[in-house]
Amino acid sequence: MLPRILLCAVVSFFTLPSFIMAQTTPSKKTGRSLTAKQIHNSSLVIDTHADTTQRLLDEDFDLANPPAGDQGNLDFAKAKAGNLGAEFFSIWVEPKEFKGQYAHRTLDLIDAVYQQAAKHPDKMMMVFSPVGIDLAHREHRLAALLGIEGGHSIENDIRLLRDYYHMGVRYMTLTWSNTNEWADSSGDITDTSIQHHNGLTEFGKDVVYEMNRLGMMVDISHVSDKTFYDTLLASRAPVIASHSSSRVLTNHPRNMTDDMLRAVARGGGVVMVNYYSAFVDENWRKAYDAQAKERTAATDAVAEKYKDADPVTRYRETDKVAKEWAAKIPRPPFEDIIDHIDHVAKVAGIDHVGLGSDFDGTPSMPEGMDSAADLPKITEGLLKRGYTAAQIRKILGGNLMRVFRQVEQVSKKLRAEQKQQRPSLARQMSSSK
Ligand SMILES: [Zn+2]
Repeated sequence: MLPRILLCAVVSFFTLPSFIMAQTTPSKKTGRSLTAKQIHNSSLVIDTHADTTQRLLDEDFDLANPPAGDQGNLDFAKAKAGNLGAEFFSIWVEPKEFKGQYAHRTLDLIDAVYQQAAKHPDKMMMVFSPVGIDLAHREHRLAALLGIEGGHSIENDIRLLRDYYHMGVRYMTLTWSNTNEWADSSGDITDTSIQHHNGLTEFGKDVVYEMNRLGMMVDISHVSDKTFYDTLLASRAPVIASHSSSRVLTNHPRNMTDDMLRAVARGGGVVMVNYYSAFVDENWRKAYDAQAKERTAATDAVAEKYKDADPVTRYRETDKVAKEWAAKIPRPPFEDIIDHIDHVAKVAGIDHVGLGSDFDGTPSMPEGMDSAADLPKITEGLLKRGYTAAQIRKILGGNLMRVFRQVEQVSKKLRAEQKQQRPSLARQMSSSK
C-alpha cells in the first residue's frame, strides 16, 4: 500500500485540500522522509504581495495568456508550477502620478483583479477570508485577495476605508514610500521637505481601530520605525508585514530590525519576507545605492521626455529605465532569500514568518528566483537547513492563515462591543486629519 503522503502527492500535483493536509502523515510516522517536492506540493502556499495588478490594468495583461517570452513573475502557469495557492494582489497607487485621483485609481486596480477572476472562473477565485482561501484551494483555483499598498488611497476618509473593505480589501499597508497625512513612511523619513508627524497621528490611530473593527489586516511594511511602534500599541489585532526582510542582514530602512521582528511576534503577527535584491543582499544594496545619482538622472530625463504623456505611459517608461540600471548589477545568490526567512524564523519564531515576494514590483530578484514557478526552491532551501515539513508548512502559508483568523476574531469582538455600547459615530469620523 502506498504511504498516505505519497498517495497525496500522486492525487494532486497542484494543491491539496487543507483537511487532507492536516492528516498528512509526518515522516516520523511513516518512517520515510518527505522530499521537498512532496512537502511543497502538499502545502497551502500563500504569497502576500504581488504588484501584477498594474500589469492587469495598464498592459491588459492576461494571467492565462502571457505574451510569448514574458518576463513577468506571475501568471496562472507559473502559479501552478510553483503550487501557489493564494495571492494578495497589491492595489498600489503611485502618489505623484495620480495625485488628486487616488480613490479613482484604487477602484480601477480593484476592478482589474475582479475582471481577471470573472474571465477565468475555472482558474481564479476572489476570496475574502481564510475559509475562502481553503475553498479555492480545495477547488484547485488560485485564491485571489486584495491588499491596498499605501494609506493615501483612503484620501483621509474612513468612509472610503470601509468602502474598500466592502469591496473585498483585506489588508492595508499604512504607508507606501510616501508619508501621508496621518502616518510617516520609512521612504522619506530623512527628507526634511516632507511634513512628518512623529509616527502615527490620532486620525491614524482611528484608521487602525477601524481596520481592526472591520477585520482588515494592518500591514506595517514601508512605515517608519516610529509609525511601526505606534501601530503596535494602537492595534488590537496581530499585525502583518506583507513584504519586509531583515535589517540586520541587509541594512535598508524598509527592512525590520530584530527588535521589530520580536515585537511583531509578541503581538502574534507575521513577517512575510520580501525577495527584492536590495532588501536581501547587502552588497547588491550598496551597489544599487552607489548608482543612485546616475540612475535618478536617467529616469528624470525619461520622465521629462514623457512629461506630456499620460501617467501610465510615463511610469512605464521610467520604470523600464530603472530596471535597465538594476540589471547592470549581477543578481545575488538565491540563498539570500533563505537566509532572511531563516533569520526571521530564529529571531521572531517559527510561527511568525512567511512569504511576501513583491512579484512584479521589483527591478531585481536573486538568481534562480524568476517567478512564482520557483517557489518550490524555497521549500528545498529550508529542508536543506533542517526545517521539518510542519515548520515549512507554517512558513509557506500556515502562519498567515492563523493571523488572518485572529484578525477576524478581533473584528467579531469589536463589532459585538460596539453593538452593546452603541457609541456615537464620532469616534470613527472624529477628524479629517
Ligand atoms: Zn512595497
